[in-house]
Amino acid sequence: MQLVFDQLTFEAAHYIPRCGKCSGIHGHTYTIKDLRMTIPTGEGFGLTENGLSVDFAEVSNYFKTEWDHKFLILREDEEYWNHIYKETGYIPVMDNRKIVWASTAEAMIIIIKEALEKIVYDRYPKLRDMIGVMKIPNMVSFTLYEGPNHGVSV
Ligand SMILES: [Zn+2]
Repeated sequence: MQLVFDQLTFEAAHYIPRCGKCSGIHGHTYTIKDLRMTIPTGEGFGLTENGLSVDFAEVSNYFKTEWDHKFLILREDEEYWNHIYKETGYIPVMDNRKIVWASTAEAMIIIIKEALEKIVYDRYPKLRDMIGVMKIPNMVSFTLYEGPNHGVSV
């Protein structure tokens, strides 16, 4: 079976070094569209006492706590931002999220996909045992929009 989320949104600030106007700090409303999470069924893959598979609330909570109203700091720039904050106390939003690459939609979608897959694997540990280190292709699919007009799909 598939859990389907039509739309989830979060707001975040970021910058992309050496990328023209995108190297200045700016923000986006990110939208996750048509999120589909394949949930195993059959023997050993039952629902919880409440009749749930993966809780919708857990998925939306992930975006709320991990991404919403965060400043996506490049890991290599963490010291710089900490210094600015210590000296001036002025950074409108700051969080400890560290991204190895620049926070492009292409990089973010990989992190988000892995986190959503982990929610399914944590709910059904047997699934992880059954397939070993292999992942189920397309267990999680969605499009991440950066603003209204463009995005990336997995
Ligand atoms: Zn941007």
